[in-house]
Amino acid sequence: MDALEKLKLLGPATCFEPAEEMSNTGCALARPGKSDNAFIHNAVMPGGKRIALLKTLLTSACERDCAYCAFRQGRDFRRATFTPDELADQFMRLYHKGTAGGIFLSSGVAGGGPRTEDRLIATAEILRRRHEFRGYIHLKIMPGAEREQVVAAMRLADRVSVNLEAPNAQRLARLAPHKVFDEELLKRLRWVEDIRRGMNGRWPSSTTQFVVGGSDESDVELLTTTEFLHRQAGIARAYFMAFTPVPDTPLEDHPPTPPLREHRLYQASFLLRDYGFTAEELPFSPTGNLPLESDPKLAWARQNLTHMPIEVNTADRRDLLRVPGIGPVGVDRLLRERRRGRLRELNDLHKLGVIAKRAAPFILLDGHRPSYQLALWPVR
Ligand code: SF4
Repeated sequence: MDALEKLKLLGPATCFEPAEEMSNTGCALARPGKSDNAFIHNAVMPGGKRIALLKTLLTSACERDCAYCAFRQGRDFRRATFTPDELADQFMRLYHKGTAGGIFLSSGVAGGGPRTEDRLIATAEILRRRHEFRGYIHLKIMPGAEREQVVAAMRLADRVSVNLEAPNAQRLARLAPHKVFDEELLKRLRWVEDIRRGMNGRWPSSTTQFVVGGSDESDVELLTTTEFLHRQAGIARAYFMAFTPVPDTPLEDHPPTPPLREHRLYQASFLLRDYGFTAEELPFSPTGNLPLESDPKLAWARQNLTHMPIEVNTADRRDLLRVPGIGPVGVDRLLRERRRGRLRELNDLHKLGVIAKRAAPFILLDGHRPSYQLALWPVR
């Protein structure tokens, strides 16, 4: 099998690992033959720059037996393995052709977590040292990788990630009976933050991923852990992957998770990361899940702001961020603009990038409810 053939097998396999903001998301394994370049993703980097990102595994061989995973030990399918040299050379060919500008590199576990991590690091070292590649590298930290390896990966990468898969040890035991939540996974994420805090200079961001719905966990479990990771482990982002049953795995009959649940979890995680919400404040139902029919910020506002509209001319940043339709960029503009004069019309907000129609039911403009709000939310 030549390197390009391997890439065609191993690249689409990373569809189970969301990373960075992709324009072409979705699992290419579910659409075989859809594209020769299913391993290249148009990705938005931290900071906003767009690049063509090569996403691939180093190997789809794996000695673990995670119950949901297409690559679990013993499952019958065509596997492939790159050597570090081979993958680095193939990437550089794509780089010089202008097909790829960065790489996301993960792997099945073969020969233990540390030995697998060695091969990931070796690939990144070849790219950085032999090929003098200065572009974007995202490296996966394997379960059980050693602290020195985490340091080495962080020196080479722009982003590192550890897949927690589940929000706690009990849930992980159902998804991946031989992974150890605290010792093998969470500890590595904490090391990343610890190393980042202890060193000066350029250090990579870190992320994690959850499989949503595979262990019947609730949204409150996922988001409480996400909040903890943002506050205590300094992650840049949690990724959520709606569970899809894979044939010939122990969870093949488990129902798939609706993609809308994944979407609501992203919205809620941004409220935790960027809007100053706490997990406790989120509008969970008695079962611990977010409403699917409404975005969580709107659901929160309907419960809390309908009778206490926010005066946009005097409210502080925290309160403004709680109004549907007003995001962090809109708040910055709004705070600047109101120093120049009072905001009186919905159109004044619209010009600042606020989704004025969405905000209208929850605000006062110079002491008055915006006019068409009255039709939507009668005032008694
Ligand atoms: S460690 Fe588990 S999730 Fe990762 S590739 Fe192996 S079986 Fe799949």
